[in-house]
Amino acid sequence: MSLLDLIDLGAPARCAGCRRPGSPLCRVCRARLGRAHVPAVPGVDHLVVGWPYEGGARSLVLDLKLKGERGAATPLAAALAREVAGSGLMAEAVTWVPGRPDENRRRGLDHAGVLAAEVGRGLGLPVRPLLRRTGERPDQASLGAAERWANLQGAFWAEDCPERVALVDDLVTTGATASACAQALRAAGALRVEVLAACSA
Ligand SMILES: [Zn+2]
Repeated sequence: MSLLDLIDLGAPARCAGCRRPGSPLCRVCRARLGRAHVPAVPGVDHLVVGWPYEGGARSLVLDLKLKGERGAATPLAAALAREVAGSGLMAEAVTWVPGRPDENRRRGLDHAGVLAAEVGRGLGLPVRPLLRRTGERPDQASLGAAERWANLQGAFWAEDCPERVALVDDLVTTGATASACAQALRAAGALRVEVLAACSA
């Protein structure tokens, strides 16, 4: 029996992949997931990815982000805890990529913050809101790869950061967002930035 079978025993859960009851991501849907791609990201010392962004793992991210289903954060955090156990982590605190304020208001949650709370609890690390967005920018999803990096120059700001910090996000694609956040965390005192991404695409 794995960590994912053990969580959520109190509440009936449905698999995000096949909707069968029993577990938030069943054994069959988990077995269908391939290996996660781990890109090199400028400014990031160590990147840990839970799952590839496909199948049931993708559904969990979308349930959390678009439907505001907080329960979806639990299996995503468990997948990250499993990968951290294999690769190690030096962080003394956990923070997250803050969502766009208008989206947070509309969805009723800051989804990466919900994920970070679960991750911090699982790893026994304090969770601190270190990052702020500096202003309105176009949504990353609407831009091409090269534009994404330019769009995020100076897009985040942080203060009073611990020397070793883990940055949580739901999804890493080009790594532009994680890199911009890492830059802000370093400007605020971080010497080592580790990124914990639930999925990579
Ligand atoms: Zn399933």
